[in-house]
Amino acid sequence: MTVATTAPLLPTYPRAPVTFVRGEGCRLFDDDGRSFLDFGAGIAVVALGHCHPAPLAAAQAQLERLWHASNLYWTVPMAELAERLSARFGGARAFFCNSGTEANEAALKYARRATGKPGVLALHGSFHGRTAGSLSVTGQAEKRAPFEPLLQQVSFARPNDVDSLRAAATADTGLVLLEPIQGEGGVRPLDAAFVDAAAALARELGALLCLDEVQTGVGRTGSFFAFEQLDVRPDLVSLAKGLGNGLPIGALLVADNAPEGFGPGDHGATFGGNPVACAAACAVCDTIDDSLLASVRARGAELRAGLAGLAAVGEVRGAGLLIGAELDRPAASAVDACRGAGLLVLSAGGRVLRLAPPLTVSEHEVEEAMATLEEVLG
Ligand code: PLP
Repeated sequence: MTVATTAPLLPTYPRAPVTFVRGEGCRLFDDDGRSFLDFGAGIAVVALGHCHPAPLAAAQAQLERLWHASNLYWTVPMAELAERLSARFGGARAFFCNSGTEANEAALKYARRATGKPGVLALHGSFHGRTAGSLSVTGQAEKRAPFEPLLQQVSFARPNDVDSLRAAATADTGLVLLEPIQGEGGVRPLDAAFVDAAAALARELGALLCLDEVQTGVGRTGSFFAFEQLDVRPDLVSLAKGLGNGLPIGALLVADNAPEGFGPGDHGATFGGNPVACAAACAVCDTIDDSLLASVRARGAELRAGLAGLAAVGEVRGAGLLIGAELDRPAASAVDACRGAGLLVLSAGGRVLRLAPPLTVSEHEVEEAMATLEEVLG
């Protein structure tokens, strides 16, 4: 196949033997010219599809003007993106960084500073990132174990179990951290009542509620933020993945009525708020309008119905275009077989097949993906 697959990289990922050289909409092309239908979108990143004209034009124009100035100064794209995200949230200030894990690191530090309390309450099965702080609050013991000791005073509760949540809380809890739908942990949505109870508990404890919307945010579930479908208004929201349509960017949003946390020198990121990434992200935000969100919900419903009709599929979960299907076989084998048939999909744990196509996916592309899934899953 290709020389790239022997490149000297650390083996942190089980990379498939395929080298992509071009992307367009929901299609990726490898170095042999083979076309793939991309229902993984770079792990829920390429929100508008590959090389979408809006972020492409915005990033290209910004590349001609200014690449970097540092956070010692203001830049127009960063200010404009902060305005857009604040408007979507209904009043929030932003800290910009480069990834989801960094957005969660910012949340951990913000809550610590704002509440003066070191404890974090998170959920079993959660995933918040790979850096030391985010890993400490990731509810998957096998991922944490090789790196312990990590942050202390982290406790985990069972998702959708209010008693377990209350039992795991302590007077030291300064942050309650939840994914509205656990993505990596198997596409497991939280109940509105559970999130409501978590918000009430955070208020009682004098803790902040942070929703990790790194995977669910930026339209993925059919609303700009997944929390819009829950009856909750968080203090903090972390975003990344879809925001830059593939350019690296993360953000922590802090609600205007949340307690003050950071002052000058408390936190930073050299590349945070990069003008090119922010210009692309502004174009992403502008493109995610009501009609695109309606399409996300419609395509998601078609996919869920199609999956539910397959004999190899048990429970189908998720919202919008973040979908998990319990299979009667290991998901990894289905992912490989789909790729062999020209369809890129994801797994989320042992037997969960995860679909997260670009939000712009067409009805025809959904039909094409379903035909391949039917063929592969038999
Ligand atoms: N939080 C959630 C919910 C995620 O799904 C991920 C990545 O999958 C992260 C955080 C970490 O993001 P990143 O890989 O950009 O650091």
